Amino acid sequence: MISVEEARDHLMALVAPLEVEHVALAETAGRVLVQPVTARRNQPPFASSSMDGYAVKAAEVERHAMFKVIGEAAAGHAFDGKVGAGQAVRIFTGAPVPEGADFVVIQEDVSRTGDLITISDDPGTKDNIRAEGGDFSTGTTIEPPLRLGAEHVALMAAMNVPQLPVARKPVVALISTGDELVMPGQTPGPDQIIASNTFGLKAMLEAEGAHVRILPIARDTVSSLRTAFELARGADLTITIGGASVGDHDLVAPVAEELGMDRAFYKVAMRPGKPLMAGKLHGAAMVGLPGNPVSAMVCGEIFIKPMIRAMLGLDPGFGATLSAPLAAPLTPNGPRQHYMRAKVAAEGITAFDNQDSAMLSVLANANALLIRPPHDGERHAGELVEYLPL
Ligand code: AMP
Ligand code: MG
Repeated sequence: MISVEEARDHLMALVAPLEVEHVALAETAGRVLVQPVTARRNQPPFASSSMDGYAVKAAEVERHAMFKVIGEAAAGHAFDGKVGAGQAVRIFTGAPVPEGADFVVIQEDVSRTGDLITISDDPGTKDNIRAEGGDFSTGTTIEPPLRLGAEHVALMAAMNVPQLPVARKPVVALISTGDELVMPGQTPGPDQIIASNTFGLKAMLEAEGAHVRILPIARDTVSSLRTAFELARGADLTITIGGASVGDHDLVAPVAEELGMDRAFYKVAMRPGKPLMAGKLHGAAMVGLPGNPVSAMVCGEIFIKPMIRAMLGLDPGFGATLSAPLAAPLTPNGPRQHYMRAKVAAEGITAFDNQDSAMLSVLANANALLIRPPHDGERHAGELVEYLPL
């Protein structure tokens, strides 16, 4: 058996960052920026007012000072003149501060009669002017790699960059295998169940930035598996689910091998999800996951999500664990790293009693995988343990 870390090293060697594509800004949320992006303008592009008020000369600003209003500046409508001594321009938020003015007295501090204003309250010392380029300036660069959130999209819109260089989405082909499986919505026979893993993994990997194709369920026959692998051609990563052990009906490994996969089979020292198969098939990565639903989902978290991140040019994120105090004690762990379905709450982290790798209802109630290293001793309530948030 190999450790989780060794298994990860093997899997990461199968993938590489994908090529860049240029995508319209409005479609880039969640995508990964892979080249630097440079602002094409200053923001603000001119000194602009941050308040509604009156633009005047700072040297003349004091309580009871009077000014004559000579015009108006609104957002999108500059005042095209100059503010002289004793003069003011009515100004609104976002308008360019007119030449000659270097202070905006807010309207609440002013009383107005006709064209005349008087500063009636203490105007303070803040000039209420946003300097040209105060947010960013031409040439300001956003560095990759960066997963684009709403805030980044807004920033790059302001920079007047209409398309962004992002990593192509990794295409993942998902193959469920098993004579017992039917698709959700179909009517299963008395000895059949519904394929769930493909749908869970699709949701997980698309949230990570992949484009996932669910292929037809492969039956436990050589020809059906061959067809499935054929349909998976063109994907960057092919994932099979189930059929990867050494039972009489576990045909994934022999069929993949017959199709030319240079296969490595790993028994990983982890619970759940011991058997894992990986290699290159048709020039792309192929991973065989265990069939038990929780095993498949945990392997998705531990192994497949990092592969997706690596293909997107991101850090694989192996260090993304947190720690919390135990709310209840734990008995000693065995020789395999255990990813226990657990709940993190205000009082700490609690592992569920039922850790059966087929129990999707337990996984659905969990919000964390509590990580027990191999041979971890008994743990008391209050001790800090590591977990991976779900
Ligand atoms: P296998 O590795 O094919 O022996 O499958 C192990 C267990 O996982 C069996 O109980 C299968 O019925 C179940 N299983 C395999 N694939 C899926 C799937 N896609 N969805 C739900 N359960 C599955
Ligand atoms: Mg099977």
